[in-house]
Amino acid sequence: MFEWVSGSHSTAVRPPAVTTTDLKDWLAGLAALDADVTDAERIQQLRALEQLKSAAAAAQVRVTADLDESVRAERAARGVPASERGRGIGAQVALARRESPNRGGRHLGFARALVNEMPHTLAAVTDGGLSEWRATLLVRETACLSREDRGRVDAELCADPATLAGMGDRAVSDAARRAAYRLDPQAAVSRASRAQSDRCVSLRPAPDTMSYLTGLLPVAQGVAAHAALSAAADQAHAAGDPRSRQQVMADTLVERVTGQSTAHSTPVNVNLVMTERSLLAGDDEPAEIVGYGPVSAGTARDLLRRHTQTDDPAGQAWLRRLFTHPTTGELVAMQAKAETFPPALRQLLVFRDQTCRTPWCDAPVRHADHARRRADGGETSAGNGQGLCEQCNYVKEAPGWAAAEHASSGTGHHVVQTTTPTGHRYRSRPPPLPGAPPDLTERGSTRALGSIDVYFTELLRDFDAA
Ligand SMILES: [Zn+2]
Repeated sequence: MFEWVSGSHSTAVRPPAVTTTDLKDWLAGLAALDADVTDAERIQQLRALEQLKSAAAAAQVRVTADLDESVRAERAARGVPASERGRGIGAQVALARRESPNRGGRHLGFARALVNEMPHTLAAVTDGGLSEWRATLLVRETACLSREDRGRVDAELCADPATLAGMGDRAVSDAARRAAYRLDPQAAVSRASRAQSDRCVSLRPAPDTMSYLTGLLPVAQGVAAHAALSAAADQAHAAGDPRSRQQVMADTLVERVTGQSTAHSTPVNVNLVMTERSLLAGDDEPAEIVGYGPVSAGTARDLLRRHTQTDDPAGQAWLRRLFTHPTTGELVAMQAKAETFPPALRQLLVFRDQTCRTPWCDAPVRHADHARRRADGGETSAGNGQGLCEQCNYVKEAPGWAAAEHASSGTGHHVVQTTTPTGHRYRSRPPPLPGAPPDLTERGSTRALGSIDVYFTELLRDFDAA
């Protein structure tokens, strides 16, 4: 890839290859960075470290592209169809980098683009002159171009380090977009139509038990939806509604989306996980709303009070109460002989795991998965079950991947160990639930074990009621 490593047409002496052990030594060296220096030298340290980060990013790019090429070649040799050869590579990159599989896929695409189509950009990152983020912007803004045109932008902007010198993030991405528009105006138009397929709705927590519901929509639809809410606010105001415009718009949004007559009636189904101490004894241990995150114990009790007292038939939906194991804070387990997870057990996995169990993956749970496959003798139980997102479940079924409940932890916590095709092992635990002890090594007492049955029954009754 680079002259001094590709060899054939280079006369330079190849420096000795840097090993993984060397890299670890560098880490130790950085931890011991000389602190007894002048301020002028501190500035130089900052600059050199920044260059090192870029160079490390470039090295990751080359390693990633090599891994991709090697895995694909090995699969091609085994006769795996071309469309299947790349399966799970991004997920392995993600696990190694402690990032979500989604981002792993992006790292892989970034590496392939730089190595195969943008050599000047890669060289600039390798030198430490261009940051990883700015290279990402260049890759992103040229994604709509043909390989040839992308190569032209690469040469135009990065062959001479002076071209981008002094440019900030915005200027770099503008320069790339300008060059792309000039080379292929049509590509920009088709890119806009492709962007429409990215439309989505997401939910994330906001302070004070509020939440952001966000829709990424084509501009015409977004404007139309906002105008409709705005018109509803005008109408309400004209009729003397005391609520503010913003309040009316927010309430109207909820009413129209959920089909409820008023925004204040009970949500269709909100799952609340809390300890009995918080529920009955006024304890302060926070509760969890599944799909949202922690809420204070007071808020949880308040929610329960409001929604269990309502006489409104539309508000008959209820808050599902789940009790957590008093010692380990884990939801109680249950077993079934079924091939697939029965609805109640599936729900339990969703409550316990909350998000995909793949480490560093924050995606919502979509599949109840047998950690050890049914075909390999895995049972349909909470212990062998894990909640996975769609993508991770697909990856896990690829050849060379395996998973199983890891029993040796001895702490009462549920642990799944996933093994990747390279033999690396990663362990995941569900997020802590209300009532989890600060000392995670504390073992379940006899009383706690006895209580499992009680909670188990409680849980089943709730599910039966559903
Ligand atoms: Zn996932």
